[in-house]
Amino acid sequence: MALRKIVVEGDPVLKKKSRPVEKFDARLAELLDDMKQTLYSAQGVGLAAVQVGVLRRVVVVDVGDGLLELVNPEIIEAQGEQRENEGCLSLPGKYGETIRPAVVKVKAQNREGKWCIYKGEDLKARCFCHEIDHLDGILFTERLAPEAAVQTEKIR
Ligand code: ZN
Repeated sequence: MALRKIVVEGDPVLKKKSRPVEKFDARLAELLDDMKQTLYSAQGVGLAAVQVGVLRRVVVVDVGDGLLELVNPEIIEAQGEQRENEGCLSLPGKYGETIRPAVVKVKAQNREGKWCIYKGEDLKARCFCHEIDHLDGILFTERLAPEAAVQTEKIR
């Protein structure tokens, strides 16, 4: 396992669309292991492969109830609405209120290629949406709630 460098705002890779994973091989397993380590080291709740410079549809999420590895994830159901403050490991120190569904169902493959369904509410729903947006080159700053603004915090 190795820590990977997190790409930050200004790098054009963050605006690019990621390609689907077709090979469920040792390279994918290594990417997932590295992303897990990078996520925990950065104390984040979610990380998309594009954030470590890999344009593949791979996401890891852990909102405190264990790590989920989502390969080729798709939102298949969304209900309700939530307006909450959101941040991003690629936009250090920036926060803003976004509108997201309150509950989502996501279909994704695991590292072996098996399809599974995941349900997320509240923070987990927001995290699923945020990370899947990354795979399409979309940042949370493009999902701001009406009258919300991006706030910047000084990084210590
Ligand atoms: Zn992010």
